[in-house]
Amino acid sequence: MSIQVIGANKRYGDFAALDDVSIDIPDGQLTSLLGPSGSGKSTLLRAIAGLDTLDSGTVRINDNDVSQKSPQKRDIGFVFQHYAAFKHLTVRDNIAFGLKIRKRPKKEVDAKVDELLEVVGLAVFQHRFPAQLSGGQRQRMALARALAVDPKVLLLDEPFGALDAKVRDDLRRWLRRLHEEVHVTTVLVTHDQQEALDVSDRIAILNKGRIEQVGTPDDLYDRP
Ligand code: ADP
Ligand code: ADP
Repeated sequence: MSIQVIGANKRYGDFAALDDVSIDIPDGQLTSLLGPSGSGKSTLLRAIAGLDTLDSGTVRINDNDVSQKSPQKRDIGFVFQHYAAFKHLTVRDNIAFGLKIRKRPKKEVDAKVDELLEVVGLAVFQHRFPAQLSGGQRQRMALARALAVDPKVLLLDEPFGALDAKVRDDLRRWLRRLHEEVHVTTVLVTHDQQEALDVSDRIAILNKGRIEQVGTPDDLYDRP
């Protein structure tokens, strides 16, 4: 599913968090929103998710105007920097949660969760509780939970930001492989240029509430 944001504006008092932002996010690609802290990345992501309303502008998902739709109706998976897992549920039950509240048949839930446990490499930890996982494992669980309901769009807000450098590096490579397998349209917010270069099909560079450049890593950066 492609995403279009057209003429998005969002002000906090006198401050323009988004200043007439338009962007096309192609179907099936991983697009990063890259920029310094305060440049409007999260605001743009939250507008796509429907978690914040825009002052003006339109968000389209697969050519449907979703600007007036609630987050639930936008068919989106979301992963934040600090993931809120259910601490009294096992890894398996955390991943299954969205399917269960949608009342999917048990057989379907079990099959989907088994598949995702493999994809994110947590099958051996499926009966653990979140507190018994490392930070990186927890974020992989968060991704599996977001993907369980087959969202049209996956939105990731600094999902690896709270992890140490080595784990972050592993998870980037892992996210890239996951994306090549699943191919869901993905938008990643990051302030880390290397992270954007490592995982993205396309990068949009934000600064002071505006999009300054959009392109593939090779379009944008002169790399050896
Ligand atoms: P980024 O994700 O690039 O760090 P944000 O989109 O979170 O940037 O924020 C952009 C700007 O808008 C920041 O200066 C931030 O302080 C401001 N901002 C974001 N949310 C609010 C809010 N609810 N109230 C006031 N200012 C906000
Ligand atoms: P992120 O780490 O994703 O950039 P922040 O820590 O900037 O997020 O913001 C977390 C939450 O606080 C968001 O919901 C954002 O809208 C809100 N927020 C950010 N800046 C401000 C601000 N200056 N005043 C009020 N709320 C803010």
